[in-house]
Amino acid sequence: MPPFKKNISRRKFIDLGVQGSTAIGLSLPIIATTGCNSQNIKTTHGACYHDCPDTCSWTATAVDNKITEFRASQDNPYTNGKLCAKMNNFPNDVTFHPDRILTPLKRVGKKGSGEFEPISWKQAMNEVAVRLKKTLAKEGGEAVLPYSYAGTEGLVQRNSISGRFFAHIGASKLERTICGNAAVAGVMTTNGQTTGVLPEDIIHSRYIILWGTNPVTSNQHLWPLIQQAREDGAKLVVIDPYQSATAVEADWHIQPTPGTDTALALAMINVIIAEDLQDQDYVDQYTVGIKELKKHVEQYDIEAVSKITGLKEETIQTLAREYASASPALIRVLIGMEHQLNGGSAFSAVAMLPSLTGAWRHFGGGLMHMTYELFGQALNWERLELEKTIANQDIRSISMIQIGRALNDSSLSPAINALFVYNSNPAVIAPNQNLVVKGLEREDLMTVVLDHFITDTARYADYVFPATSQLEHWDLLTSWGQTYLNINEPTIPPVGEAKPNTEFFRLLANEMSFTEDYLYESDLSILKKTLETDHEYLNGVTFDTLRKNGWVKLNIPDQWMPHAKGNFKTSSGKCEFYNASNEPPIPEYRPKAYSREELSTFPLKLLTIKSTKNFLNSSHANVKELMDKEGQPVLDIHPEDAKLREIVDGAEVKAYNKNGEVLLTAKVRSKVNQGVVSMPQGYWSSLVKGGSTANALTSDLLTDKGRGGALQEARVEVTLLT
Ligand code: SF4
Repeated sequence: MPPFKKNISRRKFIDLGVQGSTAIGLSLPIIATTGCNSQNIKTTHGACYHDCPDTCSWTATAVDNKITEFRASQDNPYTNGKLCAKMNNFPNDVTFHPDRILTPLKRVGKKGSGEFEPISWKQAMNEVAVRLKKTLAKEGGEAVLPYSYAGTEGLVQRNSISGRFFAHIGASKLERTICGNAAVAGVMTTNGQTTGVLPEDIIHSRYIILWGTNPVTSNQHLWPLIQQAREDGAKLVVIDPYQSATAVEADWHIQPTPGTDTALALAMINVIIAEDLQDQDYVDQYTVGIKELKKHVEQYDIEAVSKITGLKEETIQTLAREYASASPALIRVLIGMEHQLNGGSAFSAVAMLPSLTGAWRHFGGGLMHMTYELFGQALNWERLELEKTIANQDIRSISMIQIGRALNDSSLSPAINALFVYNSNPAVIAPNQNLVVKGLEREDLMTVVLDHFITDTARYADYVFPATSQLEHWDLLTSWGQTYLNINEPTIPPVGEAKPNTEFFRLLANEMSFTEDYLYESDLSILKKTLETDHEYLNGVTFDTLRKNGWVKLNIPDQWMPHAKGNFKTSSGKCEFYNASNEPPIPEYRPKAYSREELSTFPLKLLTIKSTKNFLNSSHANVKELMDKEGQPVLDIHPEDAKLREIVDGAEVKAYNKNGEVLLTAKVRSKVNQGVVSMPQGYWSSLVKGGSTANALTSDLLTDKGRGGALQEARVEVTLLT
């Protein structure tokens, strides 16, 4: 029995669930009377739930449960009155979209056909529980796999009650590592923490390197701050194998061969040490391993690395010199370069640069990465991670990146017989798409999906349950890209028969006759308990104050300079250039080895990137207006590669490899180097010609650190479609 105890009945917990709280109107609506018509008017604060570093704040107003106003917070300085194109029309694009699922559905056609019929909640829950009980009795808990990720960043709806439910039944654990884990593991190896320079402080930087990140598209509220720094004299350098929307705006775009970032960073270190440009005092006081690093980088001279990266020697040399000489110098990384076998090492190597040059000493200088650790310190995280105390530590883990392998692995014991998908769409977002779909087609697999729409994954479900949207449930939102905490209060009751994810799992627990109190805690209780903290970052913040304003900025020192005097969170307390217990002790450039046959059959390196302006991952990619704005997916191909294949701009082409094929329209332009092609992620297979999208071609290999997804380790050939 876990430690969570409460003197409250199970029934009471259900009544206090978010359904109940909305219905009983914890936020008493303002009643306005106009003539003889009375109207219920309610205005609430909320925040964007997407897997985006910006976590924008908003307010929404409903009159008689119809949203009449939905707009970005005008007073949150980071949101600054703007949402992005993905979210401007959110109430119509999701909450009230005509295709939204409003009742539970049961499959009546073949898996994948998308043929369902409505079924009552009671009947559907009963049928799911009967099948689940059978699986648990016959195969044990590990035959059940939850599959969820960042479809919402909300702490309550993401994995609170569901996490407890799956821990309780002893389900297989899911390694949720597809995005960010390799990057974090890499930076942690060097610095012991990821929180470096905070976004607002970029205005003080005078030399900014955006390394594998594209804020114009995917970190839109950072971009104006970068612009401000440039107005004050900062130089903007973008390192990206793709000429992104940000690269077009940069003072200098450096375009290395994809997957060579580790070598490039080590070559910069080589130049800096060779030319004595390091901050020796900082190195002496706050780092370990300079001797070993110096020796190690000798092999990464500019001549050798020029061949690896495809960059001119003088490009590498100038970049290193300029970076080491400018002040304050900032490197901004997010996740861009992690999706390669060598991805974790790339982040480790890049993270060494600010310590080598002493950039951390200067306000606006250092490394800017994630901010989530600040919330981890500030909030009462134990409540959210209760599942960890419930779970049997010996339960097996399955990588979300290798879901296709797991569903098709006949040697897996027990086989996965029940799959619960929520906050995710593995048929689109997981690599090796055709293998994933083959697994989802298994007749002996019970697949249950909670979502707003019949996604590409839901098409294979046995049961689909309607989930609430962000305007219909409570939540609490931290951020991994800035320092504002947001509350999300429901503006309207659930539309149709939709229920929050939490309520689904409370109901399922009840149907399974489980009696543990922790399975029935209400959303508001989880939210309030998470705010019970005496940490200085949330000094004076209560549920009531947060609810009144909607957001609060963490109370962190104005001049946040975490490593000005070392203070690294490594075991040595210093920035670790070398650590004998790491494998390897210093990052190495270790590219994937391809056979000669692979290189000749599939000569083009594939980049699959988040370049869409109107979708986020696979969210919104089914909304016609947004699809129309985005257009059909295109393949960027270099003019020389196109010429070789007699491909002209606008031609219909097929990109293929051993995993699958994708049909696209060719864009012949120099957005990529020769030998590289690029296509966007996020499109739904069911809505594009050919029925496959980027992940039909990507790799399900894991990265060197963090067990992230080495999606970009893919090669293809491209031909004209005849
Ligand atoms: S997707 Fe990002 S930029 Fe767009 S509204 Fe949401 S948090 Fe803001």
